[in-house]
Amino acid sequence: MNSKIPKDLIERAYQGKSTKEDALLLLEVPPFELFKFADELRFLAVGDTVTYVVNRNINFTNRCVGTCGFCAFRTNNGKVLSIEEIMEKVREAEKANATEVCIQGGLLPDVGLDFYQGIVEAIKAEFPEMHIHSFSPMEVYHAAHISGIPISEALRRLKRSGLDTMPGTAAEILSDRVREIICPLKIKTGEWIEVVRQAHAAGIPTTATMMYGHVETPEERIDHMLIIRDIQKETGGITEFVPLPFMPYNNSVGEKMIKEGKYATPGLEDLKIYAISRVLFHGHVDNIQASWVKLGKKFAQFALHCGVNDLGGTLMEESISKSAGASHGEMITAEELEWMIHGAGRVPKERTTLYRGTNGLASGNSLRMSGCGVYE
Ligand code: SF4
Repeated sequence: MNSKIPKDLIERAYQGKSTKEDALLLLEVPPFELFKFADELRFLAVGDTVTYVVNRNINFTNRCVGTCGFCAFRTNNGKVLSIEEIMEKVREAEKANATEVCIQGGLLPDVGLDFYQGIVEAIKAEFPEMHIHSFSPMEVYHAAHISGIPISEALRRLKRSGLDTMPGTAAEILSDRVREIICPLKIKTGEWIEVVRQAHAAGIPTTATMMYGHVETPEERIDHMLIIRDIQKETGGITEFVPLPFMPYNNSVGEKMIKEGKYATPGLEDLKIYAISRVLFHGHVDNIQASWVKLGKKFAQFALHCGVNDLGGTLMEESISKSAGASHGEMITAEELEWMIHGAGRVPKERTTLYRGTNGLASGNSLRMSGCGVYE
């Protein structure tokens, strides 16, 4: 059978030079050809190892002054965890062998950077080895604004307090047209890019997410990925790309969609996103993560054959996706993740947040990161 994927497109992908037109064309080829191509690129980038991290999510509050129309998590008067309550959760995480805590929360109206630094410093004082992967670009922007300091200064202070890495959340779709519809008061595309670039400059690597499946076009999804690729070319500070399908329940954006007869993305569309991200990021971002919380365990396992090489974290608790209709649980054990990975014919490996020592093969970003020494 002749491949529907043109040879010159394949060549560009191998060279890390896939274009927007390439990605649009790949959307039209038979899906299993696309998956096979992405799987080959996955093998070239990271081999057969599939990673996961033992971690704990901690959401310190769901109280938020934000107005994001896709959010089912926020309230006007939710509880804010005290430092001691956060520490109790970190202690439980440490007892469960977690190597990372991922802390995020709503935007509190009168809480500046001291609050965030206080959390980080308390954790590092008791658990200097615990990797702190916390605070979205939106939270950093908000805290810097309340404290009246530049973003770069806020990031430098957080780094000094002990912040190790940041989740590249709050990215949604990096298009101001889309943001105006789904989250008009959130940081704009240029502001998200700037916080992430500044974080990398301060020695704080980040992940990069994409929440898709609401009002965006296929072109806007691809533009989003190309923006992230451009950041990576400049800084080398992105550890992984995490596509996140939109959960349309209990939020106004989703309710409007459902009234118009649109629902959550079909599975085939999710798998194409993972595969296309593998193609677009080849040579730039080695790690493509599937969220078992959003996709479900069985589908996340299948995604391992469509370009994915990481299954994220064990989490221990999860409330953001659950409030928007995810029903796949709040925690998974390392043993079950390894079972899933073995079942896909791959080699499981627990990783650190920074994927140190996991991917034995060529690695665009990790080579640059170890070369410049900033992220050592
Ligand atoms: S997504 Fe985050 S910033 Fe937006 S309303 Fe929800 S909690 Fe607030």
